[in-house]
Amino acid sequence: MPVITGKEYIKRINALQSEVWLRGKRVEGNISEHDAFEGVIKSQAALYDLQGSPSLEEQMVYASETTGNKIGLSYLIPKTRADLEKRRTMIQHWARFSGGVMGRSPDYMNTVLASFAASVDVLDNEPGCFPDRLLSFYEYARENDLSFTHTFVNPQTNRSSLAFLEKDVTNAAIVDHTDEGIIIDGAKLLATQGGITDELLVFSAPGAQDSSQAYGFSIPSNTAGVSFVCRESFAQNGSRFDYPLASQFEEMDTIVLFDHVVVPWERVFLHENLRAATNLYVHGKFVPFTLHQITSRQIVKTEFILGLAQSIVEMINISDYQHVQSKVVEIMKGLETMKALMLKAELEGEVDETGVFVPNKVPLYIAVNQFQELYPRFTEIIQLLGASGMMTIPAEADFQGERGADLDHYLRGAEKAGKERVALFRLAWDMTMSSFGARQTLYERFFFGDPVRLSQTIYRLYDDTEMVSWIEQCIKKAD
Ligand SMILES: Cc1cc2nc3c(=O)[nH]c(=O)nc-3n(C[C@H](O)[C@H](O)[C@H](O)COP(=O)(O)OP(=O)(O)OC[C@H]3O[C@@H](n4cnc5c(N)ncnc54)[C@H](O)[C@@H]3O)c2cc1C
Repeated sequence: MPVITGKEYIKRINALQSEVWLRGKRVEGNISEHDAFEGVIKSQAALYDLQGSPSLEEQMVYASETTGNKIGLSYLIPKTRADLEKRRTMIQHWARFSGGVMGRSPDYMNTVLASFAASVDVLDNEPGCFPDRLLSFYEYARENDLSFTHTFVNPQTNRSSLAFLEKDVTNAAIVDHTDEGIIIDGAKLLATQGGITDELLVFSAPGAQDSSQAYGFSIPSNTAGVSFVCRESFAQNGSRFDYPLASQFEEMDTIVLFDHVVVPWERVFLHENLRAATNLYVHGKFVPFTLHQITSRQIVKTEFILGLAQSIVEMINISDYQHVQSKVVEIMKGLETMKALMLKAELEGEVDETGVFVPNKVPLYIAVNQFQELYPRFTEIIQLLGASGMMTIPAEADFQGERGADLDHYLRGAEKAGKERVALFRLAWDMTMSSFGARQTLYERFFFGDPVRLSQTIYRLYDDTEMVSWIEQCIKKAD
């Protein structure tokens, strides 16, 4: 089957009737019509239509090696640098649609699955591992353009370094096996877009200590015993003017509960093998390919933020002030640094022993770890430039009401009418200050892992032996 349309995506998700809970009530009926999900499901559907658009064919799809069908490039496992560059272009097309605020446009998870499929060698000859099943599932997902959510991290119950000494009562674990499959019981921390995708991909958290928590599998989102418990919705329906981003791109985060869920054997990729579970992250291609997707999107998001900052500057005519210029330049420096790191990662990529072209993960780690600090600063810059403009943002209804003409006059920008100025500031507010905007900051800080531990990983990975021996030489010469 070739890539799906938006309509097909919506039809599939509604038909699943996955168990989704919001504010104590189970979501009933078509989830695409529910206030909390309507906007994001429409946007996701528009992304599928974008992928299938004839004018972008060259950049979004490729011919399947097994069926010849046109399938999504986000599933492509690159064999050459040109393939990798094509992947970047495709990712950035998806990202531009939302200004990069949809962290889980379908290409993210498709990349994750493709990266695991490209890593099956790590599972070869390992007890409890089924690389063939992972590969054939990847092919099935690729050919049917499945959508995914995923959950890896365990609940935030006790993060002490000695927590493993205590009996765990929350983490999703394998509690039994039957002829049918493994039985999973417990919880996982988060699945963004939980309940609005075809499938739920579940892998153990990196560094799992207990073999019952070492697993990798994928199950349909409506599998019996799986439930998604939502946080409060940040979606704001109604006026696009009032909530330019939240009305379209609120992705929802869900806690995932497993109540003795049967995972059929054909969907089990690995179980009860701690070494393989860890090696999949450490020696597999999950990290380089996922970081490549993330950095590609974050570049687009930075472009969006730069456009926003510069539009505020022009709207209220503050470009002459030196500190204003340097704040905008901070965003420019961030953008160019991200782009340079991306190019370096691609240029230093190599074909590995399995024939896959893998980007250099070090510059990508640095880009993503850096963005965890840059992004909160960008949102601060938007607030520092916007000042009270971030709060003088009456709603569309105010402009339509009796005081509309006054507002259009008194809230005008240097060269624009009040309504236009407020539209810009509402966008800036929704990007950085609304509940939707605040989540964006938390998301960029944490979704790929704790920034502190990410920087520890870079410290361990970075090869500075030459620099250290240079210093040794210097000292020897001084002697
Ligand atoms: C908006 C959002 C969406 C997300 N979506 C998903 C998703 O779809 N799927 C998914 O699997 N995950 C998702 N995550 C989870 C994400 O992967 C985690 O937030 C991240 O890995 C950090 O883990 P934690 O939140 O449990 O933080 P914790 O590990 O509990 O950290 C809390 C604090 O303690 C410190 N700390 C804890 N342990 C250590 C340690 N060993 N050394 C040093 N400091 C430590 C941290 O630095 C931090 O300050 C999402 C997170 C967010 C915020």
